[in-house]
Amino acid sequence: MGIIWFVGAGPGDPDLITVKGRGLLEQAGAILFAGSLVDQAATRFAPPGCEIRDSKDMTLEEMSAWLLDACARHATVVRLQTGDPGLYGALVEMTRPLDAAGVQWKVVPGVSSAMAAAAAAGETLTLPEVTQTVILTRVAGRTPMPAGEELEALAAHRSTLCIFLSITLLHEVQRALRSAGWSEDAPIVVVQKASWPGAEKIVRGTLADIKRRCQDEKIASQAMIIASPALGARDWADIARSKLYDPGFSHRFRKATLMQDDGTESATTEIPS
Ligand code: SAH
Repeated sequence: MGIIWFVGAGPGDPDLITVKGRGLLEQAGAILFAGSLVDQAATRFAPPGCEIRDSKDMTLEEMSAWLLDACARHATVVRLQTGDPGLYGALVEMTRPLDAAGVQWKVVPGVSSAMAAAAAAGETLTLPEVTQTVILTRVAGRTPMPAGEELEALAAHRSTLCIFLSITLLHEVQRALRSAGWSEDAPIVVVQKASWPGAEKIVRGTLADIKRRCQDEKIASQAMIIASPALGARDWADIARSKLYDPGFSHRFRKATLMQDDGTESATTEIPS
């Protein structure tokens, strides 16, 4: 019996898979990949003769059966998923039948599309004294939201929201943010196919106009919505500095530099943390 590896393929650019994930693809006897976003990585790195199957027309039961069958014949079997397998990846549903069959499985994390979207837009998800919290969420589609996790309730925190699986429900996102008191000019960025060479689209707007702007750009799938008070900070006149890089803040690897009143630096002195 081989091992079944649930590997995060990253957000789309085949170069964004981890070194470990790529190594597993290169030695895989069989790869079951999840739809159009990750087929390039699967086919680029798979060895000759590897069984490669797209799972888009399969049920969860069929996927588990396919993986079980493949691991009876191969030492390394890969289930390749978009982004990170632990986010909206049906991981538990797929691994429970494997546990029941006594088959060993492991997970290799991946770069989530939330991170890839922020990177594409050149945005930070956290900013000192603005927000220090990131919420990864979605709005209810066919999958209902558990009580207390309605977007309206999460938005009340005024932290960064990375909203998955919701681009066709932008009106719902707008309604929730408005009812949580976000202003009409609150910035929102939508990134479609983040990291995809030649296909990535970035749409910047506000709570008031983001839906229209996405319609104009014909964005209706594979998009990350980021709403955050930290968006656009690179153009602000002034920002609070991160304490980590503040010359007056000591940590394990650097002693603080004390600034004199005249603005010159004194000899380095350890400040107790
Ligand atoms: N496990 C994945 C998420 C899978 S759910 C991850 O960690 O990224 C699918 C949703 O992820 C899509 O509806 C979209 O909101 C988002 N998504 C996946 N890939 C994306 C990409 N390259 N660019 C923007 N959004 C993406």
